[in-house]
Amino acid sequence: MEPQRLFDISDQVPVLRDLDGMAPLLRSMDRSTWRRHQHVWRTARTFALEAIWPNALAYEQAMDRDPWYVDTDFLVAAGQAGLLSMSCFRSLGGLGLGATAASLVMEELCAGCAGLANLIGAHHLGLIGLLLSTNLGLSARIQREVVAGARTGRPVLLAAAVTEPLAGSDVEDTRFMATARIGCVARREPGGYRLSGSKVFISNGSFARYVMVAAALDRKRPLETWTMFMVDSTASGFSVPRVEHKMGMKANPAAELHLDEVFVPDSDVVSAEVGDGMAGTEVVLGASRGPVAAIATGIARGAVERFLHFATVTERDGRPLIADAGIQEAVASALQTVGLCRSTYLNGALCFDRHGHGVLTNSPMIELFRLPFSGRLAEVLSRTPAGRARIKERLDAQVDPDGVDRTLAAASLAKAACSELALDVISGLMDLMGPAALEPEWGLEKAWRDAKLTQIYEGTNQLNRLCLYERGVGL
Ligand SMILES: Cc1cc2nc3c(=O)[nH]c(=O)nc-3n(C[C@H](O)[C@H](O)[C@H](O)COP(=O)(O)OP(=O)(O)OC[C@H]3O[C@@H](n4cnc5c(N)ncnc54)[C@H](O)[C@@H]3O)c2cc1C
Repeated sequence: MEPQRLFDISDQVPVLRDLDGMAPLLRSMDRSTWRRHQHVWRTARTFALEAIWPNALAYEQAMDRDPWYVDTDFLVAAGQAGLLSMSCFRSLGGLGLGATAASLVMEELCAGCAGLANLIGAHHLGLIGLLLSTNLGLSARIQREVVAGARTGRPVLLAAAVTEPLAGSDVEDTRFMATARIGCVARREPGGYRLSGSKVFISNGSFARYVMVAAALDRKRPLETWTMFMVDSTASGFSVPRVEHKMGMKANPAAELHLDEVFVPDSDVVSAEVGDGMAGTEVVLGASRGPVAAIATGIARGAVERFLHFATVTERDGRPLIADAGIQEAVASALQTVGLCRSTYLNGALCFDRHGHGVLTNSPMIELFRLPFSGRLAEVLSRTPAGRARIKERLDAQVDPDGVDRTLAAASLAKAACSELALDVISGLMDLMGPAALEPEWGLEKAWRDAKLTQIYEGTNQLNRLCLYERGVGL
């Protein structure tokens, strides 16, 4: 049995691999954007086949023994393949790609191993807030570090820290934020803020260089004072007391972070103004839920590919299992669901790129970055709160509120639907395998554990359904 060579089989099943055939929606992009998407998708596919598929089980076992373990060689390779900087502005050395590209990449990588893939995914979650921030100076500085780090083999990773020990779902939805029990607070002092409190379940939190941290200036008025800060993890007072022993996605550490009077200078405040953190969270969730739906889709697709391998090498009554018409129909049914999930997550991601990313990152303000001199000017402009408020005013004027509702509804629909369908696909295939489904070598039980997490993070599915109702129905 050579369970890690499963991609041999999937190459014979074009419906699993053929981006053109599966996603005619993508053809509506302009030629240059389409080319960049194809490039990054092919890169991700090659990277997954070379660096993820062959190592998935070994990495999971290594992390199981030591949850603090992170494979630096893997991150160096991801950086050199351009997967850590693809969302950075083109003028700063990235590819300027948004949620659609991130989703295509995540599907490819997660088919191999969602844990390893999420080392890259969680980094982009930390980056999104920064890419959409009005603090252009901070954004440019960190993007330059990310791009340079990836090129030189010294990767600079990010993380996003919102969840707290007593506030998970509450800090992901405006309606519940007003009564959330917030523990992480920021205190104003000359030149910046002091942050204190704890964050939990933070993916990449144990090794990220920069962590985007949400904190309230007044814990009794969290909704009005929730603000985003970029924390340098080398700053005094920042510590990581614990990394979770997780059920799934073990290769991606989820850490508890402790902030003890950590100083954040004014220049590193991500929010345009105090209290707009909840609006920022919603934009980030609009961007990230499509890719989470793609993560679930990728895990399900990987499970189908692994099952095909199992059904080819396993014999029942002297014939390979795959020769059975019932098994063939079950495989086709699983592929139907994977195809449906792909269209659903692409819809969510394309919606964000049109109404969110497209508007914000293609705005004239961001376009200034394309010219070296005005790029610097934009950075200088955004240094003061007044400058940032001006930029925010300009950006807000370009955002269509209906587009925001549509984006958040489509993203929540995709996230909840794909994460549930993925689990159905994997459970159905495991039923067909019998007790062999629990043998780690086949990868199906790992796929089940990995997929389960996609129902929890980026807002539990219950929360996503409430968001879908509010933004999509709203009666
Ligand atoms: C592997 C993993 C990685 C993560 N990575 C990150 C990260 O990088 N950064 C980060 O900030 N967070 C991260 N999280 C945290 C994640 O976003 C939270 O776990 C999630 O938001 C749920 O919060 P909670 O765990 O406190 O559950 P709770 O909010 O306590 O929810 C418990 C249950 O109650 C339900 N519930 C709660 N409120 C309502 C309501 N109003 N109506 C109906 N049902 C409700 C929920 O749906 C759930 O079923 C991660 C979590 C996991 C598991």
